[in-house]
Amino acid sequence: ETTVYTDSDTERAQLANKTVAVLGYGSQGHAHAQNLDDSGVDVVVGLRPDSRSREHARADGLRVTTPSEATAEADIVVMLVPDTVQPAVYEAIAPELEAGDTLQFAHGFNVHYGQIEPPEGVDVTMVAPKGPGHLVRRTYERGEGTPGLFAVYQDATGQASAEALAYASAIGCTRAGVIETTFREETETDLFGEQAVLCGGVTDLVKAGYETLVEAGYSPEMAYFECLNELKLIVDLLYEGGHTEMWDSVSDTAEYGGLTRGEDVIDREAMDDILEGVQSGEFAREWIAENQANRPAYRQHRRAEQNHEIEQVGDRLRELFAWSDQQREPAPADD
Ligand code: NDP
Ligand code: MG
Ligand code: MG
Repeated sequence: ETTVYTDSDTERAQLANKTVAVLGYGSQGHAHAQNLDDSGVDVVVGLRPDSRSREHARADGLRVTTPSEATAEADIVVMLVPDTVQPAVYEAIAPELEAGDTLQFAHGFNVHYGQIEPPEGVDVTMVAPKGPGHLVRRTYERGEGTPGLFAVYQDATGQASAEALAYASAIGCTRAGVIETTFREETETDLFGEQAVLCGGVTDLVKAGYETLVEAGYSPEMAYFECLNELKLIVDLLYEGGHTEMWDSVSDTAEYGGLTRGEDVIDREAMDDILEGVQSGEFAREWIAENQANRPAYRQHRRAEQNHEIEQVGDRLRELFAWSDQQREPAPADD
C-alpha cells in the first residue's frame, strides 16, 4: 500500500534558518522560487550573468545572483535548469557544495545516468511536482497544490526525507499529496512514459490514424477532428474517471469496437524494446551524444513533425472554429 504524504506528515521546521538556492527560473524554477518565498522560506535565485530570466525573477521580488554564489550561501541547492545543461552548471557550483548541504533535483536523469556525481556528505534528493511550473504556481496561489514525488538518493545527514517533504510542503505539493519513489524508478518511468505513451506514442497514433483516413480518400478536416480534436474529450474522461467512466460515456458501438479492435494497433514488443533502451542507458547515451553533436537528428525530426500535413490542417481549423479557444487552457510562454 503506497503512502500518500500530505501536509500533516511534514515538519516545516526542517526549513527554518535554511536558505534555498533555486538554479534556473524557467517552468519549474519560477514556480518553486515564488512558492517558497510566499511560504516564508529564504530563497535566492541563481542565474548566469547574461540570463534573460534575471529581470523576471527580480520583477517577482526575488533576490538574484550567480549559480555559484547562490550555492555558496545556500543549504539546499535545487537544480532547475534544463536537464541537458545541468552537468555544466553542476561543474560550476560543485566547489561551493559543503558537507551537510542538499543537492535537490526535479528529475533523476543526470544522477541516475552518472552525468552528475555528487560528493559524499551531501544529501541528494528529488522533489518533482507532477505538472508543469505554471500549474505548480497557479494551484499554490489558489491555496491548492500539484501532486508530486520525492526521492532520496543519498542521505548523509539522516534528515534527507524529512527535508524533502518539508520542501514539497512549502511549494504546495503535500496539499495535493506526495508519494515516494527512487531516482531510478522516476527516471525510467518518466522516459518510458514520454516515449511510448504520452509524447511519442500518442502523436504517432494520431498521425497514423489521420494518414490512414486521408490516404483512403476521406477529407483532411474529418480526419483531423476524428483523430486529433476528439482525443481531448476522451483524455478528459480517462483523467476524471478512468477507463470505466470513458467507456460508459461513449456509445455502446464505440465501446464494443474499441474493446475488440484497439489492441491490434499496439505493439507490445516495441514497447519492451523502448523500455530496454531506457533501462540499459542506451537512450541516455544516444541523447547525450546528440546534444554534444549540437542535435542534428533532433532538428531533423522536429522539422519533419512541423511540416506534417496535420499541422497545416490543424492550424487552419483551430482558427476557423471559435470554440477552440474556450476549450483550450492558456498555454504558458515558458513550457
Ligand atoms: P526550463 O527549460 O524551463 O529552464 C529554463 C531556465 O534555465 C531559465 O531560467 C534559463 O535561464 C536557465 N538556463 C538555461 N540554460 C542555462 C545555462 N546554460 N546555464 C544556466 N542557466 C540556464 O526547465 P524546466 O523547468 O522545464 O526543467 C527544470 C527541471 O525540472 C528539469 O530537471 C526537468 O526535467 C524538471 N521537471 C520539469 C517539469 C516541467 O513540466 N517543465 C516537470 C517536472 C520536472 P536563461 O534565461 O539564462 O536561459
Ligand atoms: Mg520527462
Ligand atoms: Mg467517433
